[in-house]
Amino acid sequence: MPIDLRSDTVTRPTPAMLEAMMTAKVGDDVFGEDPSINTLETMAARLFGMEAALYCPTGTMSNQIAIKCHTQPGDEVICEKSSHVYIYEGGGIAFNSGSQVRALDGDRGRITAGQVSLAINPDDVHRARTSLVSLENTCNRGGGSCYDPGEIGKIRQVCADNQLKLHLDGARLFNAMVATGVSGAEFGQLFDTISVCLNKGMGCPIGSILIGPAAFIKQARRVRKVFGGGMRQAGFMAAAGIYALENNIGRLAEDHAHARQLGEAIAKKDFVRSVMPVESNIVIFEVDQGGCAKEIAQQLKEKGLLAIAISANQIRFVTHLDISPEMVSQAVAIIEQL
Ligand SMILES: *Cc1c(COP(=O)(O)O)cnc(C)c1O
Repeated sequence: MPIDLRSDTVTRPTPAMLEAMMTAKVGDDVFGEDPSINTLETMAARLFGMEAALYCPTGTMSNQIAIKCHTQPGDEVICEKSSHVYIYEGGGIAFNSGSQVRALDGDRGRITAGQVSLAINPDDVHRARTSLVSLENTCNRGGGSCYDPGEIGKIRQVCADNQLKLHLDGARLFNAMVATGVSGAEFGQLFDTISVCLNKGMGCPIGSILIGPAAFIKQARRVRKVFGGGMRQAGFMAAAGIYALENNIGRLAEDHAHARQLGEAIAKKDFVRSVMPVESNIVIFEVDQGGCAKEIAQQLKEKGLLAIAISANQIRFVTHLDISPEMVSQAVAIIEQL
């Protein structure tokens, strides 16, 4: 079995998670009758100190529903240029919401209040109406970088001053919470809406949750149905989510320690030009000039280590629940041999 560091989405449910799924109480969630989904939504809302939550099949759907609810066709959404909502959701902002993107050049995926302030369009018939700012935490393409909550507070103020909504793509927000010690309640106060993924570091087979005010979630529930995401006895899946919220948050610190080990090992290699600071469970490194990321990923694969070449000269490792300390030692040995 190769050591799979391609993504934290490759995890398989543990026996304990499967047990929780097998014994779940379920009902028809479109009728609002699935007790497991209702419990999961209540737990998530409480975790972030928000009023309500909506269980969705994927993080992409949660984000797209949020953007749909926060915008009108012809609006403009401000986000960082490497944001998942912009580059990895199939053009969904245009497709689903008829809105366009103002993509800002951030620092490892993170933008500042000053940048946001300058990117807001004036109230002028020539210009798209700026209505939403979407942040990502941790930033996937930023090598798992974490936002400073102080900066988010400043962005929040800019949004409030300009009647903009603020959404968080928190696919890896639990990683950010564990890495920085910032609580869910603190994030809940900073954003209008938050999406989190259960299908990544949390180890669930599927699932995401969109969290926000009750009136917003009511509208989001309608949009989820329109997008084809109204599921029936999905409580079997939500039970995995409940299990994950109860058991898999704290252990993310282990994944972060593993990522640091891998980051240190890769930084010693001659062919590596730079490694992004390792702040959570992602390691992104740049290969030297003339080097080809695809070739190096192929060499790693032949030695039993799977990674993704995310650009012509960058490779990404992601640690997760299915990576043991022994596998990290093995991975370090493979890297040393390369
Ligand atoms: C994975 C991811 C998502 C959502 O992914 P799904 O596969 O649709 O659940 C959203 N944002 C970021 C930053 C991600 O890494």
